[in-house]
Amino acid sequence: MGRVVFIGAGPGAADLITLRGARWLAQADVVLFDALTDPALREFAPQARWLDVGKRGFCKSTPQASIDALLVRQAREHALVVRLKGGDASVFGRLEEELQALAEAGIESEVVPGITAAIAAAAHTQRPLTRRGTGRNVSLTTAMTADSQLQAGHHADTEVFYMAGRQLGALGRQLLQAGWAADTPVCVVSRAGWPDALSSDHALSGLAEAALLHASRPTVVTVGAGARAVTVAPQTNTSAACAAISPAGLVPAQAGHAKAAP
Ligand code: SAH
Repeated sequence: MGRVVFIGAGPGAADLITLRGARWLAQADVVLFDALTDPALREFAPQARWLDVGKRGFCKSTPQASIDALLVRQAREHALVVRLKGGDASVFGRLEEELQALAEAGIESEVVPGITAAIAAAAHTQRPLTRRGTGRNVSLTTAMTADSQLQAGHHADTEVFYMAGRQLGALGRQLLQAGWAADTPVCVVSRAGWPDALSSDHALSGLAEAALLHASRPTVVTVGAGARAVTVAPQTNTSAACAAISPAGLVPAQAGHAKAAP
């Protein structure tokens, strides 16, 4: 009887995995991997058998019960099975079901944390998720209920919505109904953590405009305090040291960033 190590691969390019995750991968006999993990991760475990159990919303998918059963079967046959998940395994990753299946079968497991999409989006746009005084809490929210209904409210100073990419217009309308102001800043990031990541800024009332830019790409939507761009106070001191801190470095000048017209 072997053991299973769940590894969060991070949401993008292979180098976002943790060192601990990469070390476990190097010892794996079998790797069960998800659709959103970078194929380049195979280089960390060329010795292992790689099994695709990916699912993407509304596309061809492997039923969860089959994944649970496969995981148990593989762990009975091999010393080390890695369950590789996109982002962090504990965030919208069906980790609960898989841990339960292993525990019921008496199989040992361990969870290695990963970078979740909300964090990679904050890094890409240089928008701190918490803000002193104004952004005291952050909610990671799935926009979809278990039976695929869109559901969104107002629960934190900053809310990051997962799985809303196909319904940005409807999400915007629900958030307005839930009491968010029409001019609330919203930052939309798709393929965060990949070299072709894209981000765009909107007022909440104009969120629908983001749909085309991010179509068919995994997308997170950050709403509220944490979506605001970092601003630089006007400079009063013109010494060389101060002048070196150019506002261009902080205001969204990075590649792949769009700002919606006012
Ligand atoms: N466990 C993952 C989330 C899986 S749910 C994590 O921690 O990130 C799948 C949803 O995650 C997608 O619908 C999308 O909303 C978000 N997502 C995953 N990868 C992403 C990426 N690279 N950029 C933006 N959003 C991403």
